[in-house]
Amino acid sequence: MNPRVAATLLIPVFLPAASVRTPERSVTPVAEGVYVIRHPDPSAGWVHSNTTVIAGERGVLVVDACFLPSVAREDVAEIRRLTNKPVRYLVNTHHHIDHTAGNSVYRDAFPDIEIIAHRDTKRLIETRNPGVAKRWADPNGPLPKSIAQMKERLGKGQTEEGKPMTAKDRADTEQEIADVQRQMREYAAYRQENPTLAFDTEMTVDLGKRIVRLQYLGRANTTGDAIVYLPAEKIVATGDILVHPVPYAAGGHPVEWLETLKKLAAMELSIVIPGHGEVLRDKKFLNLLIEALGSALAQMEAQVREGRAMNAGEVKIDIDDYRKRMIGDDPLNLTWWNDMFLRGVVERGFLGIAR
Ligand SMILES: [Zn+2]
Repeated sequence: MNPRVAATLLIPVFLPAASVRTPERSVTPVAEGVYVIRHPDPSAGWVHSNTTVIAGERGVLVVDACFLPSVAREDVAEIRRLTNKPVRYLVNTHHHIDHTAGNSVYRDAFPDIEIIAHRDTKRLIETRNPGVAKRWADPNGPLPKSIAQMKERLGKGQTEEGKPMTAKDRADTEQEIADVQRQMREYAAYRQENPTLAFDTEMTVDLGKRIVRLQYLGRANTTGDAIVYLPAEKIVATGDILVHPVPYAAGGHPVEWLETLKKLAAMELSIVIPGHGEVLRDKKFLNLLIEALGSALAQMEAQVREGRAMNAGEVKIDIDDYRKRMIGDDPLNLTWWNDMFLRGVVERGFLGIAR
């Protein structure tokens, strides 16, 4: 064998494992006139939604408006560089503030814009989001407390675990304080902007030589999750029905979510844009999640039926084989997996199965 070929074959292929963290801004073209913007995390434990930009001949439709208004303003500037067409539609895939806080930025930049959401999402944005935003800026709320704790740790030179701080721990803590302070400042100036159009099951938007279909497939991460589908290109933006690499189940409806995921997987899809995380080029991850969630719910149902689990605290689920394939062994991924996925599946799934 040619020694150079042999040498190449000996190099193991280490694919970098996907992380729950997004360190930097990126703009990925996924088709002619279709772009996915990803945003650097606003702080260590918090996230921005992905933002998808879909341009047609008549105008642009944007999916999700991220968490910090200042970052939504960067997106608007980016969109103006990408296309000279106006943004006519903004879709909120669900009500969570990391997908909707930038609504006012789009309203200011494109005064005629229609903001579209599922009917339940429109209602939840109207009722819940003003209070959520207020809490974010509250001088007596949780954020100033967490800043005070971080400052105390810096003063003592101790990590959360009580170990001596390294230079990196110190820099990370200082960065986290600055990031949280920025969030508080931005939310002090938060302006609520509600959806102007609602749909129940389906809505078609003609952008001019580009058809976009908004669909409700059933409950999943919230009561009103919408997907945005380009039938010609077979591209879907899923909102938080699908998040990569760690799916979000906290506050969701796991039993119905499984059925919603199956409906999504039955669609013709060449590109899957999750609510957070990298753009996926096939259904592998979606199908793994369906298997993992299906297994978790089946285990829980059996334990309930056999009297081994009378409440969520008694449920024991083993889906570690799926976990390894979906997120690997990265410790931060694992923490998120336990907090954002497994706990939600158990606590919320138990309600769906046994209540
Ligand atoms: Zn989200």
